Amino acid sequence: SSCRFFSAKTSGSIEGIKDIIAVASGKGGVGKSTTAVNVAVALAKICQLKVGLLDADIYGPSIPTMMNLYGKPEVSEDMKMIPMGNHGVKCMSIGFLVEKDAPVVWRGPMVMSALEKMTRGVSWGKLDILVVDMPPGTGDAQLSISQRLKLSGALIVSTPQDVALIDARRGANMFRKVDVPILGLIENMSSFKCPHCGEQSYIFGNGGAHRTADEMSMEFLGKIPLEMDIRTSSDEGNPVVISSIHSEASKAYSQLADRI
Ligand code: ADP
Repeated sequence: SSCRFFSAKTSGSIEGIKDIIAVASGKGGVGKSTTAVNVAVALAKICQLKVGLLDADIYGPSIPTMMNLYGKPEVSEDMKMIPMGNHGVKCMSIGFLVEKDAPVVWRGPMVMSALEKMTRGVSWGKLDILVVDMPPGTGDAQLSISQRLKLSGALIVSTPQDVALIDARRGANMFRKVDVPILGLIENMSSFKCPHCGEQSYIFGNGGAHRTADEMSMEFLGKIPLEMDIRTSSDEGNPVVISSIHSEASKAYSQLADRI
């Protein structure tokens, strides 16, 4: 594989992990978790890296569903949680630790201590890369994750819609403030190809993400189409990069993993 591994310096904030990257979005519902999952699986399966996936979306964890992982993690002799694995990726999520329908009503300090447990309190083993599915937005939790984990870089996900792009800019500015390199912007739900006539529709707009990336001097990392397969495979816990490898979406995610 041509996966270009971007960091020679080890970020070193968690022992044994070479690089930690965040997948972030200014706004919820734009496909951040879907991107994190597919990129993580592609890095493991296609790039043959040792990959971990941390679900830091504390108020809306979706990694258990998307990775088809249920139950509670076991605890090792040194009292660390053992991450749960599927599709070649070791995962940790707050979703493993709280009841499924229970609201997470913690305040800031509890969120931070939960995140601390889910990072340093986990026996990750040796990893080339830990992909962090960030909470959406640019609040305290996002800021302290960025600083405490010494991120090697951040991927920003947005739809082509203006309201999403405004928030994506905010996200990018937050990472810049704390000196986290921005790896680039990904446009999700970019276009929809009608399965009957093949016509492309730009449901959330066209071209805006590329323009935003240029204006903000970020690399534009590509477009992920709006595809039924992406949604159904996510719901089933079989990410499209492995369940439907010849789809447009799968190719787009593989290219994205390749560009990281
Ligand atoms: P976020 O993490 O930004 O809140 P999710 O990744 O959870 O967003 O995605 C929100 C919903 O949209 C999920 O049901 C997911 O399956 C679906 N989805 C995300 N990206 C796409 C896409 N490109 N095509 C179709 N459905 C998508």
